[in-house]
Amino acid sequence: MRTKLVAGNWKMNGSLASNAHLLSALTSGAVASFNAKLAVCVPYPYLSQANLALAGTTIALGAQDVSEHEKGAFTGEVSAAMLMDFGCRYVLVGHSERRSFYGDTDAVVAAKFDAACKAGLVPILCVGESLAEREAGTTLQVVTRQLDAVLAKSGVAALAAAVVAYEPVWAIGTGLTATPAQAQEVHAQIRARIATESIEIAANVQILYGGSMKPSNAAELLCQSDIDGGLIGGAALVAEDFLAIAKAA
Ligand code: PEP
Repeated sequence: MRTKLVAGNWKMNGSLASNAHLLSALTSGAVASFNAKLAVCVPYPYLSQANLALAGTTIALGAQDVSEHEKGAFTGEVSAAMLMDFGCRYVLVGHSERRSFYGDTDAVVAAKFDAACKAGLVPILCVGESLAEREAGTTLQVVTRQLDAVLAKSGVAALAAAVVAYEPVWAIGTGLTATPAQAQEVHAQIRARIATESIEIAANVQILYGGSMKPSNAAELLCQSDIDGGLIGGAALVAEDFLAIAKAA
């Protein structure tokens, strides 16, 4: 039985003051009876604040990106070891906004995934197709290609300590959500691809759905057999909504 994970992606939002309110509402509202584990992926400058606020709670901390390099002359980059220093357990890699706005190719994403694993972080590998790719009928090829880049670089064993998030690009921040059947089909395909290399790892890996998940649609998505939680953007900024999604999991 896979534990569910509900992870928030705050993206480039927040301030010291607004984070303090949000973190306090989350820590006081997250109850041990939730089936799901919770995590929040916050902007780099607020890692310290969130690390302190989440200490001793059941909510884990994550970052939104990581350098593929270990250290050195890479101005502006943040290494996996630095994220570990600030108490991170998770890090997003290959979010569609990094892929489309910042040129993260499959190879770069695979290198970031590898760097995160080597440092002891749990990477949340984001994969997903654009609207044009879905309309062209290439969803499964795109997602498999993105996953294969990571399998080729790090090997299937690395997925035993990682999370995959299926996020159709057309559903992120748009209010459009994949239907439960559409999401389940892709999740099952991701698991089947991993099973060609290791049945055991495929059976245990958490595969999250992301893309306009909110309290009103969370339950029907989260009850699908291959959906093991959610990666939540907009709704993660509203404590009530994020906690309602966690409760539905
Ligand atoms: C995301 O940014 O990963 C995401 C799923 O965003 P939203 O929930 O706002 O669609």
